[in-house]
Amino acid sequence: MTPDHGELLYEGKAKRVFALPDPGQVLVEYKNDATAFNAQKKAQLEDKGRLNCQISARLFELLAVAGIPTHYVGLAGETWMVVQRVEIIPLEVVLRNIATGSLCRQTPIAQGTQLDPPLLDLYYKDDALGDPLLTDARVRLLGVADEARLSAIEQLARRVNGLLLAFFDAIDLQLVDFKLEMGLNAAGDLLLADEISPDTCRLWDRRTGDVDDRILDKDRFRKDLGGVMEAYGEVLKRVQASTSNPVNCL
Ligand code: UDP
Repeated sequence: MTPDHGELLYEGKAKRVFALPDPGQVLVEYKNDATAFNAQKKAQLEDKGRLNCQISARLFELLAVAGIPTHYVGLAGETWMVVQRVEIIPLEVVLRNIATGSLCRQTPIAQGTQLDPPLLDLYYKDDALGDPLLTDARVRLLGVADEARLSAIEQLARRVNGLLLAFFDAIDLQLVDFKLEMGLNAAGDLLLADEISPDTCRLWDRRTGDVDDRILDKDRFRKDLGGVMEAYGEVLKRVQASTSNPVNCL
């Protein structure tokens, strides 16, 4: 069922954002559209919106309980969530616990290397530019955030990583790497925003040693491994088993 909402404010690759009567909040709809490689590969994956919305809601709630400031307010249906309205900082904050993906394509670091401390990479959020990897100097040059804010972003991302690593570990999932986005609300608070789901995290199943079978995230879609929604469904099942039911706020 579609909740009451105002005008469409923004449509991205995986979500739509609608106005709500409270100007401090927006309604987010998770779509079934799947994209990879900067939207060069596209598909419709039945049920993806619901799975990602429900997984994200539970992860935002557990982070909020642990004291992480997030934009999440509550669920508003199977594919809908109410969040605080934020201005997104145009940085993709990637945390890596195990080397894979672009890190191994761009450097000689071997696949599967444990990264201790976890590596934090910042990318400039701009589809037209292909979300380029930034250097510290380029972050400063772009002026997307001052020193104090950059340090707050890094601290928040590392705290989130610590909490999610432990949470996923307890349900036999290895958090390999993931991408976060952050934003500022009207009061100027830095909040964790966007989503946390198998679209934005690499999750490996500790219950199997097979290097393909263990993949329970968007790499199944990127690499044409099949069983994409079954994998996301397994993640939701395990996340549901170890979290309480999310608040319904509409
Ligand atoms: N990621 C994402 N959105 C992006 C780029 C990366 O959610 O636009 C996630 C990706 O799913 C992975 C992590 O960030 O969990 C690191 O991705 P990487 O840089 O290795 O990129 P890839 O190998 O997917 O090109």
